[in-house]
Amino acid sequence: MPILAILRVFSSTSRHRVFSSFQKPMDNLAPPKPGARPASSFVCDKAFINGEWAAASSGKTFEVVNPANGKVIGSVPDMDATDTDRAIKVAYKAFQSWKETTAKERSILLRKWANLVSENIDELAKLLTSEMGKPLAEAKGEITYGGGFLELFAEECKRVEGNIIQTHIKSRRLLVLKQPIGVSGMITPWNFPNAMITRKAGAAIAAGCTVVLKPAEDTPYSALALCDLAKEAGIPAGVLNVVTSSRNNAAQVGKTICESPLVTKMSFTGSTFVGKLLLQQCASTVKKVSLELGGNAPFIVFESADVDAAVQGAIGAKFRCSGQTCVCANRIFVHESIYDEFVKKMAAVVEKDLKVGDGIDPATTQGPLINKKAVEKIEAHVQDAVSKGAKVVCGGKSKGGNFFEPTILTGVTNDMRCAKEEIFGPIAGIIRFKTEEEVVGLANATTSGLAGYFYSRDLSQIWRVAERLESGIVGVNEGVLSVPDAPFGGWKESGLGREGGRYGIEEYLEIKYVCMGGLQ
Ligand code: ADP
Repeated sequence: MPILAILRVFSSTSRHRVFSSFQKPMDNLAPPKPGARPASSFVCDKAFINGEWAAASSGKTFEVVNPANGKVIGSVPDMDATDTDRAIKVAYKAFQSWKETTAKERSILLRKWANLVSENIDELAKLLTSEMGKPLAEAKGEITYGGGFLELFAEECKRVEGNIIQTHIKSRRLLVLKQPIGVSGMITPWNFPNAMITRKAGAAIAAGCTVVLKPAEDTPYSALALCDLAKEAGIPAGVLNVVTSSRNNAAQVGKTICESPLVTKMSFTGSTFVGKLLLQQCASTVKKVSLELGGNAPFIVFESADVDAAVQGAIGAKFRCSGQTCVCANRIFVHESIYDEFVKKMAAVVEKDLKVGDGIDPATTQGPLINKKAVEKIEAHVQDAVSKGAKVVCGGKSKGGNFFEPTILTGVTNDMRCAKEEIFGPIAGIIRFKTEEEVVGLANATTSGLAGYFYSRDLSQIWRVAERLESGIVGVNEGVLSVPDAPFGGWKESGLGREGGRYGIEEYLEIKYVCMGGLQ
């Protein structure tokens, strides 16, 4: 499969429009398709509360920067606890009527929303690339994936079913109802600015819940574009509310959501550190919590593997989104009998097919990292590995700005930072192993448990290892796994709950047992 195709697998209103440097790169691209809005029309300077474009009560704003060139795209409200509290009250009021709608009514609106996302895919992708940096092809893949959640939940909401339990007493009937849990708070990351929102908000809205969501400070425009399209689809005021805030205000926005008695569900995707903090805060009101946190994915290549297929899988699992996904291969274990062959072939693909650059250039496969701090962290990982004996096979250096070369390190050992910590960048550290028992032990020797991958053509081994890996997601002879229909989530410190598929909507439902007595 060509490399771009692998990476792609993912892979109206009264608001103020902002005309800024953002439009310049857009002008060089193909114009929007007939019926679609230009990407620049989604850039605004307001957040979204109660179906309206809203400024922060303090009047403060913060700038959003294109990570590829450092240019300011625009500014959005820097909201705080007061604004968050307002959004929660609005969502609580809207919940009183939204929960009374039928599944069919919600389904129709979600479907319209999904269609609008699909109609505007090219422009939403340009917007996403401009604020987050991932290559256009991957951004398009993400919008398809994101819209897929809206489509899926438009269907799943009609399949939420309770049941009737056999009674022990003739005069009674025992019923189980499933009902929307209520106002759902959400905090999302910058690496999937569209799909992490639809995966959560789509499920909640389908279940009959209302939403207060804080997007990452780096990528608010993709979130606001979704609000714009939700409004156009006819999703009523107050059902979806997006509160934008800078990193400085993120803690107070998060705390307000977590500690509000009006919010009964919290869903977070981001770092394990922040996830644990939010879980503690949610204890005060005993909220139902979903967490999708960091990973440390093993990618194992056994001696029976198709080495070429494993190399292609490793490229997708490692370098998609410049290595900035929580399911990216973090530790690549290769059997000693094929180690040298694997390294040679992987280095050849990296050097031939991966091109670092501004994601808006269609030839780019490796966009910038999200910011300078991310580049510094990757540099530190390389230095740490080299100081402990690793060898740089290719890459290894920053390319100026937020760009970093796709890097392969050999001779990686388990005491190096790139093996112990979540890398979140384009370093493929390759570790040699001898036996299945040894490598499964090493793969599981981490507090994370999100994704794991392995390549093998030995059927018994495939079953053994798939069952023994301690992770919520396992790829067997596949490097890119996420689809809207499958449950996504982690074991151990990688999280709580599942998103996607029919499991995703359950997170936003409460179970009620109704005992109906006195029947003749
Ligand atoms: P990253 O380091 O990759 O940005 P984070 O977990 O820090 O990962 O960020 C994910 C999301 O969590 C973002 O929306 C960010 O603004 C938010 N966030 C960061 N710190 C806090 C906090 N203390 N409370 C609530 N949200 C936070």
